[in-house]
Amino acid sequence: MSKVLIIGAGGVGRVVAHKCAQASDVFTGITLASRTESKCKAIAAEIGYPVKTARVDADNVPELTELIKREQPGLVINVALPYQDLTIMDACLATGVDYLDTANYEPRDTAKFEYSWQWAYQDRFRDKGLMALLGSGFDPGVTNVFTALAAKHYLDEVQEIDIIDANAGSHGQPFATNFNPEINIREVTAPCRHWEDGRWIETQALSTKRSYGFPEGIGPMNIYRMYHEEMESLVKHIPTIRKAQFWMTFSDNYLKHLEVLQNVGMTRIDEVEYNGQKIVPLQFLKAVLPDPGSLGPLTKGKTCIGVVAKGIKDGKKKQVYIYNICDHEQCYKEVNSQAISYTTGVPAVVGGIMMLTGKWRGEGVFNMEQFDPDPFLAKLAELGLPWQAIEGGEWLEM
Ligand code: NDP
Repeated sequence: MSKVLIIGAGGVGRVVAHKCAQASDVFTGITLASRTESKCKAIAAEIGYPVKTARVDADNVPELTELIKREQPGLVINVALPYQDLTIMDACLATGVDYLDTANYEPRDTAKFEYSWQWAYQDRFRDKGLMALLGSGFDPGVTNVFTALAAKHYLDEVQEIDIIDANAGSHGQPFATNFNPEINIREVTAPCRHWEDGRWIETQALSTKRSYGFPEGIGPMNIYRMYHEEMESLVKHIPTIRKAQFWMTFSDNYLKHLEVLQNVGMTRIDEVEYNGQKIVPLQFLKAVLPDPGSLGPLTKGKTCIGVVAKGIKDGKKKQVYIYNICDHEQCYKEVNSQAISYTTGVPAVVGGIMMLTGKWRGEGVFNMEQFDPDPFLAKLAELGLPWQAIEGGEWLEM
């Protein structure tokens, strides 16, 4: 099979390294590289399988190229930050290696995430006979695959989707984000967009709220509509989708802190002068907030992420809800990470397995819904993220 190079040794990188080691029949060698090599070494020491480590600045294409040439992987899994997507794709092109990530590119100076920059690599990857798989986390990632599953098995035509991401867990901290605080707060505070009748409709961030009753004992929680990147690729590749919305749970406590931080300017992403130095307030905030990696042993409860897909089956209206439930404490027991990192890292590894085993192949740049959902979901369940589908049920008007 093949060697894999994982870039990024944060919460998600830890899960990816553990899970690649568990799938050593596919990943015959593992190198974990990041800006701070000591973090790679700490992760490698947890794993009972050889993991090589390296230091790399993933903003620097020549450094990346040298590392890839030295390690000779068959696949690069990028779980650094969205800022590094393009440099890592450039290095993959320079060295002739396939690429996979879990979040789309974002420029540092604008909180704007969209696929245009990465889709622009289509011809270059195709011409070199290489494959790039974009957004192979949970959302984006598994949510795209759930939508493809609805289109393949449950509905003749998918017309509406509501992607609903619930974290019903608690870490007991006054305020903390469960993945990189800078990326999380940029995403949550960005204006909301949803797709309706062929166009994006913009509304104020977090201004639309509903209550949703989650299955398997989680119960009702408040959900807030926000923009999320998978909607962009889903409405492109499944053009029957007339309406696409994304919803996430937030506790009142999280929203209260976020409002104050916004009001006092701490979520700004432009530079401000401080004591003769330029700082970005949000980056400073990240430095004082709890490291999401440290929340692993503290987090209890479950996540529930899924897709409500509505459409037509055999000439009749039909709805299906496809979801996964993941337990924070069980994840921590297995790989020393909470469920947010786990639900991102496992699909990244499954995406890698699909590519390296040839179950998902193509030349160019791809999103998850462009491939057969069945082998991916079978492997996902095997590696720790089983899913359920509830057909019918109360018709959900969101
Ligand atoms: P972390 O902040 O915990 O980890 C990021 C890692 O990337 C750190 O080890 C960091 O190094 C490293 N890094 C940052 N900049 C560079 C650089 N220039 N060169 C080399 N390494 C660098 O983030 P997470 O693990 O929580 O998230 C990883 C990715 O997963 C993000 O892109 C995030 O958006 C995505 N994600 C996707 C989800 C999905 O469902 N699709 C859900 C959650 C996250 P250092 O330690 O030195 O700072």
